[in-house]
Amino acid sequence: MQNNFDISGQVAVVTGAGGVLGGSISRSLMEAGAKVVAIDIREENLNKRVEELKTIHEHVVGLIGNVLNLESLKSVAEKIKEKWGRIDILVNCAGGNIPGATLTEEQTIFDMKIEDWEQVTDLNLNGSVYPCLAFGAVMAEQGKGCMVNISSMATYSSITRVPGYSVAKNGINIFTQWMATEMALKFGEGIRVNAIAPGFFIGDQNRKVLINDDGSYTERSVKVLAKTPMKRFGNITELNGAVQFLCSPAASFITGVILPIDGGFSAFSGV
Ligand code: NAD
Repeated sequence: MQNNFDISGQVAVVTGAGGVLGGSISRSLMEAGAKVVAIDIREENLNKRVEELKTIHEHVVGLIGNVLNLESLKSVAEKIKEKWGRIDILVNCAGGNIPGATLTEEQTIFDMKIEDWEQVTDLNLNGSVYPCLAFGAVMAEQGKGCMVNISSMATYSSITRVPGYSVAKNGINIFTQWMATEMALKFGEGIRVNAIAPGFFIGDQNRKVLINDDGSYTERSVKVLAKTPMKRFGNITELNGAVQFLCSPAASFITGVILPIDGGFSAFSGV
């Protein structure tokens, strides 16, 4: 019987592959037999990641790329076509909060620097839109492909202190729906566009706001866990199955969804 979740042999582009989610998702795609093009702006992290991924199998390349430079992404797409002839999967992991754009407990929105607002909204919105344009165009030529964006819990209702990030991730939601509609209407049902919305996972970007120096939970962490019916933070590897599912034949009639992976956070009112 054919494995409905099979993605082996597919060419997958992962942006932000040097980071936490991008690394974990790249590993799992390779373990499922996909060929991976790992893209990141930070050369050192990218090189380390590629060395690590090569221990799974040999079909991985690392390319330096800036997700905010459409022209450079188009030339990366050409290089991938020269090497492997096609692009089947795109997972947009480049993104995240930036320290200046996270307000402190004492600050209000009127203290926010406009440069920080512009930087965080640019990275978290255009940083996924541009790769969808550069690599999605290859999928449109093929009539086949899957794009996966990364949304956030900051899109269901407001989360304090992260205004720019929240607005940009809400932009990702409607862009995902818009692009899904555009692809199916104009290029056929072979191209699907979806997003995952991770709940709370302790990573480098949010460790300081969730964990105190002595290892105990911050007041913010306690609030998060109180609204999470599963009463725990997620493990980063718990995102991988959903990404593989969305890119596999098992999801052939699924496009334009934003799938929460959050231990029930978005489902629960807190009461
Ligand atoms: P991370 O900081 O570990 O990784 C992000 C990677 O993107 C880094 O390697 C960085 O070098 C790269 N990058 C940054 N700017 C770039 C650019 N212009 N061009 C190319 N690469 C660039 O972040 P993460 O925790 O892996 O998060 C990945 C995505 O998942 C982000 O969109 C983040 O908002 C989202 N997310 C993360 C969590 C979490 O708990 N970690 C929760 C919800 C959503």
